[in-house]
Amino acid sequence: MGIVVQKYGGSSLSDADAIKRVARRIVDAKKAGNDVVVAVSAMGDSTDELLDLAAQVSPLPPARELDMLLTAGERISMALVAMAISDLGFTAQSFTGSQAGVITDDVHGKAKILDVTPGRIRSAIDEGHVVIVAGFQGVSQQTKEITTLGRGGTDTTAVALAAALDADVCEIYTDVDGVFTADPRIVPAARKLATVTYEEMLELAASGAKVLHLRSVEYARRHNIPIHVRSSFSTLEGTIVTGSINDPVSEGSMEAPIIAGVAHDRSEAKITVVGVPDKVGEAAAIFTALADAQINIDMIVQNVSAAATNLTDISFTLPTSDGQSAMATLDGLKDRIGFESLLYDESIGKISLIGAGMRSHPGISAKFFTALAEAGVNIGMISTSEIRISVIVDQDDVDRAVQATHTAFDLDADEVEAVVYGGSGR
Ligand code: ADP
Ligand code: ASP
Ligand code: MG
Repeated sequence: MGIVVQKYGGSSLSDADAIKRVARRIVDAKKAGNDVVVAVSAMGDSTDELLDLAAQVSPLPPARELDMLLTAGERISMALVAMAISDLGFTAQSFTGSQAGVITDDVHGKAKILDVTPGRIRSAIDEGHVVIVAGFQGVSQQTKEITTLGRGGTDTTAVALAAALDADVCEIYTDVDGVFTADPRIVPAARKLATVTYEEMLELAASGAKVLHLRSVEYARRHNIPIHVRSSFSTLEGTIVTGSINDPVSEGSMEAPIIAGVAHDRSEAKITVVGVPDKVGEAAAIFTALADAQINIDMIVQNVSAAATNLTDISFTLPTSDGQSAMATLDGLKDRIGFESLLYDESIGKISLIGAGMRSHPGISAKFFTALAEAGVNIGMISTSEIRISVIVDQDDVDRAVQATHTAFDLDADEVEAVVYGGSGR
């Protein structure tokens, strides 16, 4: 008997009817003769609602308590899905992340899965149960505290379960039919990708295409688990994430497309450290302090110092959710480093163009920047990797920039196939 690991996102579990619909899908997989293990997210936008509630109680809630609060969301859906399955005449048991053996490090709010010890899951399977696991959570090996994996983390729970249980594939059910060449909410002419390599999907996820959690793709690549991203609202085949950009292209097969997609991200902020003395060790001091505070930095730009003052500005982007703690950390260093002031800007957006083919095709940046210029979009910062070019633009320009880039690279579909079935896009 095969083992099937599925994940249902919040947008597929928005209310009681949706939960019953998902239960029927799960039961179908069981009826087909499989052992079934399912990771579930919190219902609808309930994680955001819990965060709003916490913010009303405290502007900077303790990270431990925030994790206690947020993990409740997934506990609600796991129990309701298990109930709906038993109502269909099948037996199901739900487990918290900790009960399921999801072991993490001790970083609240963005814990990493270190190991999965699926003893209880295996016993429940052996007893004939469908297993439902609360996504997005685990338990720290060291502190024994309950942790969460970061927004969108249920994808990673599912992939980690698939790896631990030796499943052939991990199915991620969501509110669109797969991974598209751009977010279908912004580009209705986006095209569904039949397959996408791990590397390209990593870049898409890291650049804001929240259809998959970044860590889930890292985990899948490391354990060589294909991910099948598909809709819980249709029966269409979705997108398979598998393979490498370095795999040899077999003779006679089609050349891979140059561009896999365009991603955007509105969740970053920009901090500028103004008037940094131009001497050895300043950048090291700034970024070491931020690293010690567990803050992930994205793009960094340092200006040439002005000859008259010997002072320079350093700007960088980071998740908005880390903005306040980064500002507090840097403020504490003001006297030691001797910079003049700090600027904080949340009204930015990032547009990224991703594709393995850009390694061998010249002129991609020129075409990208020309498309933005023709759309009247000003570029604030630029960064590149081997298979990605990213720019920072004004947040109000994001939609226009994505659409213009998608069109410029001939990615628009002739017939609209990008359906958004549910979700608020929050
Ligand atoms: P879930 O609740 O199932 O986890 P998410 O909201 O986290 O769903 O992810 C699905 C959403 O990701 C889609 O509704 C879509 O708006 C967004 N998305 C962004 N970029 C892409 C892309 N390139 N392809 C498909 N979906 C994308
Ligand atoms: N419920 C969590 C979130 O909204 C985890 C997830 O949905 O994957 O981020
Ligand atoms: Mg998600």
